[in-house]
Amino acid sequence: MDTACATSHCEEKAMAGAAASHRSGLSIARAWLAGAFIPPSTLSVCTLADIAMDGMSTEAAAAHNRFLRALLRACNSRPDRGEVVEFEPDQPIYSAGDSLSHVYFPVRGVLAIIVQLKDGGSAEALSIGNEGFIGLPVWLGQKKSTEQVVQQTPGELYRIPARVFCRIIIGSRAAERLLKRFAIYSLRAGYQSTVCSTYHSVEQRAARWILTTADRARSADIELGQALLAHMLGVRRPTVSEIASSLQRRGAITYRRKMLTILDRETLEARACECYYEMRGLYREQLESLL
Ligand SMILES: [Zn+2]
Repeated sequence: MDTACATSHCEEKAMAGAAASHRSGLSIARAWLAGAFIPPSTLSVCTLADIAMDGMSTEAAAAHNRFLRALLRACNSRPDRGEVVEFEPDQPIYSAGDSLSHVYFPVRGVLAIIVQLKDGGSAEALSIGNEGFIGLPVWLGQKKSTEQVVQQTPGELYRIPARVFCRIIIGSRAAERLLKRFAIYSLRAGYQSTVCSTYHSVEQRAARWILTTADRARSADIELGQALLAHMLGVRRPTVSEIASSLQRRGAITYRRKMLTILDRETLEARACECYYEMRGLYREQLESLL
């Protein structure tokens, strides 16, 4: 593991990929405070939350992301570089073919790995919140991404340059154990996703998605556009509208002006497919004891 990571990624310079084209919340905040002109397209990735988190320490980020907290505890050294960034919902962090310049630990937001088809169709293969990170390919020695990763729901991300990540985990058996367990969990999540989209109804999958997102946010309120949910489920917007109406009629949720609120969790859980329980149980089994 260390060999692959060290020889392929850690020795190379940080490469400018799509992600690198986005300025960090920290640097934008500094430029903003200094009165510098910031193009609107750049400002769209920075919110007041970024500015409020200016100077956020690695430890502060780790207080929100359980996996980062456990990883830091397992490592022999601390990352000397890390920053908080935020992207607009549905905005790519990087696309297939882009250099893997950073690894990302969601602080509040959720990231989704998207598989795109040649005819323009796409769907979520896996989503990651504050229970994990996006960076397994870096650990495995990959230089470029084979998938697209997008910001799924709003919120800050903590990121570390890929070479820094590789440097801090080198030589730590505890970090290796943690990463292996997370790899097992992620692989199974991908398998589960395939079965889920084949056998389970769109309503079951939507209920699963809402519950998982609420668990990560530790909140019953989710900011969510219909277009985004349609994209994640691989269905058309009218289908999402029908499902939202159905869940509202059952009293499980309310959904107004892009704000979805869970009113009756028990009813919603009854509508979700078994994949929700399967993945929650697997995470506990594989990772809970190491966190
Ligand atoms: Zn399912």
